[in-house]
Amino acid sequence: MIYSVALDGPGGAGKSTIAKQVAKQKGIVYVDTGAMYRSIALYMLKHNIDIHNEAEVKSQLPNINIQLTYKDGTQCIILCGEDVSKEIRTSKVSMSASVTSAYKSVRAFLLDTQRNVAKIQSVIMDGRDIGTVVLPNADVKIFLSADSKVRAKRRYKELAEKGEEITFEEVLEDIQKRDYQDVHRRQSPLKMAEDAVLLDTSSLTFDESVKAVIDLIDSKIGG
Ligand code: C5P
Repeated sequence: MIYSVALDGPGGAGKSTIAKQVAKQKGIVYVDTGAMYRSIALYMLKHNIDIHNEAEVKSQLPNINIQLTYKDGTQCIILCGEDVSKEIRTSKVSMSASVTSAYKSVRAFLLDTQRNVAKIQSVIMDGRDIGTVVLPNADVKIFLSADSKVRAKRRYKELAEKGEEITFEEVLEDIQKRDYQDVHRRQSPLKMAEDAVLLDTSSLTFDESVKAVIDLIDSKIGG
């Protein structure tokens, strides 16, 4: 049986690390939709497109080709033939993705790709609007949340480990700004689906969070 798990929530709530581990344990495919939005933003930055100009961004979309591939079980994102999995993880790309993802044309461009991967295999898909817009009939819907300071701490650690020079205060400010943009945009704002289960990970360890998600899946789908 093919089933889908929608995992939504704000940046830094731990969606991707948790989803990756859950996918591994359940033997399903992890789909990182944030990586797709990041790739579009990266394309615009690389081509010196003004990201605040929707018409200009829209005019570039036909030139963009995004593919998800899997190398040793890890998802790689290929932008116009180039593996950009690492390049999309900078804070500049995060902030730019939050701008371009607010455009209707950008969301429409990615919608089919996201729906199609869930048609052919069981997936856990993470994002902002998976349970509300992309997969409204997902078998399991989870909204992952955590206090913004806790999320900033996790994100800071991640970026510092990668050698990015950024302070904790800057990360916190970025997270709060991105939350605001994602929640207040007109197109597919970050919002918990009515039938989603809220999971606050502020005081949970990584293993506890993974277990909580797996328990939710098992209770809906069967273990
Ligand atoms: O999840 P991640 O931090 O990689 O997402 C980067 C940005 O992409 C988010 O801030 C959000 O603006 C956008 N995004 C979105 N819808 C999704 C996934 C990500 O708008 N389904």
